[in-house]
Amino acid sequence: MMDKAQEVLKRVFGFDRFRPNQQEIVAALLNRRDVFAVMPTGGGKSLCYQLPAQLLDGLCVVVSPLISLMKDQVDAAKTTGLNAEFLNSSLSAGERRRVFQALENRQLDLLYVSPERFAMPEFVAVLQKLELSFFAIDEAHCISEWGHDFRPDYLSLSRIIELFPRAAVAAFTATATHQVQEDIINKLGLRKPHRVRASFDRPNLFYQVLSKENLEIQILQFLRERPDESGIIYRTTRKSVEATADFLRGQGIKALPYHAGLSDSERKSHQEQFNRDEIHVVVATIAFGMGIDKSNVRFVIHGDLPKNVEGYYQETGRAGRDGEPAHCCLYFSQSDTVKIRYFIDQMESPVEQKIAIHQLNKMVQTAQNNVCRRKSILGYFGETYPKSECGTCDVCTGEVECIDATVDAQKILSAIVRTGEKLGAVHIADIVAGADTERIRQFGHDKLKTYGVGRDCDKRHWRRIIDDLIGQNHLCLTDDQYPVLQFTEKGQAVLRGQKPFKVLRKKDKPVKRRAASVSDFSAGLFEELRVVRKRIAQDSGVPPFVVFSDQTLHEMARYFPDSPAAMRMIVGVGVNKLERFGPTFLEVIRAYKNAHPEEAAARSVLHVPVSTVRKKQPKGDSVRETLDLVKQGMNMEQIAERRNLSLGTISQHIEKLLGAGETLDVDQFIDPAKRIKIERLFARLQADTLGPVVEAAKGSITYEEARLVRAFMQ
Ligand code: ADP
Ligand code: ZN
Repeated sequence: MMDKAQEVLKRVFGFDRFRPNQQEIVAALLNRRDVFAVMPTGGGKSLCYQLPAQLLDGLCVVVSPLISLMKDQVDAAKTTGLNAEFLNSSLSAGERRRVFQALENRQLDLLYVSPERFAMPEFVAVLQKLELSFFAIDEAHCISEWGHDFRPDYLSLSRIIELFPRAAVAAFTATATHQVQEDIINKLGLRKPHRVRASFDRPNLFYQVLSKENLEIQILQFLRERPDESGIIYRTTRKSVEATADFLRGQGIKALPYHAGLSDSERKSHQEQFNRDEIHVVVATIAFGMGIDKSNVRFVIHGDLPKNVEGYYQETGRAGRDGEPAHCCLYFSQSDTVKIRYFIDQMESPVEQKIAIHQLNKMVQTAQNNVCRRKSILGYFGETYPKSECGTCDVCTGEVECIDATVDAQKILSAIVRTGEKLGAVHIADIVAGADTERIRQFGHDKLKTYGVGRDCDKRHWRRIIDDLIGQNHLCLTDDQYPVLQFTEKGQAVLRGQKPFKVLRKKDKPVKRRAASVSDFSAGLFEELRVVRKRIAQDSGVPPFVVFSDQTLHEMARYFPDSPAAMRMIVGVGVNKLERFGPTFLEVIRAYKNAHPEEAAARSVLHVPVSTVRKKQPKGDSVRETLDLVKQGMNMEQIAERRNLSLGTISQHIEKLLGAGETLDVDQFIDPAKRIKIERLFARLQADTLGPVVEAAKGSITYEEARLVRAFMQ
């Protein structure tokens, strides 16, 4: 049965291999076993039930909470070539009749419904007459009062097993603590389910924290670097959402606001325009979220500090569902911490207050500590990140550096001591910077020993040091209306020189930049593909990402497929989509190739790339000897055996030959399917070293093969 699953994966969905956990879940469902799975957003949950639904006899009923999403989900399933329909209150009587007819005629593999249907006896009676394969419950955490998104409608699902004892039940969610997890399993009454708790890691997301200075200008610069990318900007209040959206529109960026103060129809329209790529930027409060199934969100900006890591993780999680690289940027300022603290102080329950403070501290640590951001985030969910650095956050790529600021800290701390812990941050920074203000003179602070000891830096610098001291808990702010700075024990230790004080700073020029050469794609072709995608989407009344994901278009713009067969090797191109959209996209690629022959030649890696560099005689007799055997048509193994050398050596020879401009045929050395797989891994991991690629392939490729492919790519 799993062979068949593999075949359907490629033929129908256009994927070469399962993502982590998908295969086990599919296998469990094919064996009619209950499933409980926590998988992160973008982990590929829908495939876990769509694929078995395709293979098993009988109907799979998918429970999904959001009516607004259901149509898109069903459109996506249909576009893939699945027999799917949905039932909810938005359908007209005629449409409903058509769906019931299809059910009676056993024409459907998938039926999407909202949870409240299970409280309707007529509906249950219809289902009971049908043969059912299994139930798939999406967003299953909605059944738990412990979760952050409890929906009373979900409680009617606790009867499913009693009503349909012969069907398996699979519950999926992207967020569940261990407590919520057990609650879901109990409420649904799952029978010894196959359990999956996937890693919370989202390897394609890049995490970055910048110091918030002139936020709107900073956001504008960020957007200017990504003119056509879709993204969400989160702000805390309606007012700031409106202000930022207005500002961006004033700068010619089509940005729309989204918050609870807008009418239903405005919210719906803004979300839809975003979904359909008609606008690229939404500025939103956290009210914008659940309904976002859009897979090509390329960035998420936090203009204000989130209250906790859970929220931060969820909001950033809306980026990059398609698995392609996406950027998460948080603008951090200590004054946001103070604002949130103010709200926490208004809470009535001391227990809630304590939890909220703890959560806030964790968030501040994630933003401020000199630790890989990914490590911090995963640590919050109780997960240990296995590597010392992730390579895709600003700390790991060296975009920020950790510098010793002990002396600067001592200057601030001693100014606080000398003034008796009675002043706020602005005034302390003024003293150290030697500002000539009315208040300084009035209090005689220009007579202090610390007055002006930090004249060499501006006030902003000193404000940031104070922020850092607060952030790392060396100072605290009192709860007064005008908060004043006071010492903590940690601060004392730094003042006395017993402990160093380190801060994170953005480097002017990041040192370790990742190799862009292998990951990139033709921006020009991508643009054209995107235009056709949008047109097709409009014609068929679906969002563009339902036609093809960004990942699929990136691969087309990277590999320039030129035939239906080559097209089928692109991720996400199954038979149905190939038939429907293949000719149009192939035509665009062909036209682009004709118009840009040099670019096409350099990129056409679904064919053998022919090196056009002038030949230089490679040095070294041994390398030349390898070349002779290559010319006789031998592959690496044959050459290694003949010369009694290791495969590693031979692959290095080939690397050298290519580097010297020798024209070689890659197919002579490696099977095309394998080569494409390796190329994809290089691209996806944005790697230029071999280790990560070999590791990610989990034993299916060797170092020599990776080295060889890299040489041809370069
Ligand atoms: P989730 O519901 O878990 O957030 P989705 O089911 O929406 O995730 O899938 C996210 C994206 O990943 C979709 O674009 C989907 O087509 C893609 N995807 C799913 N499984 C695979 C796979 N095995 N290989 C490649 N892409 C996949
Ligand atoms: Zn990192």
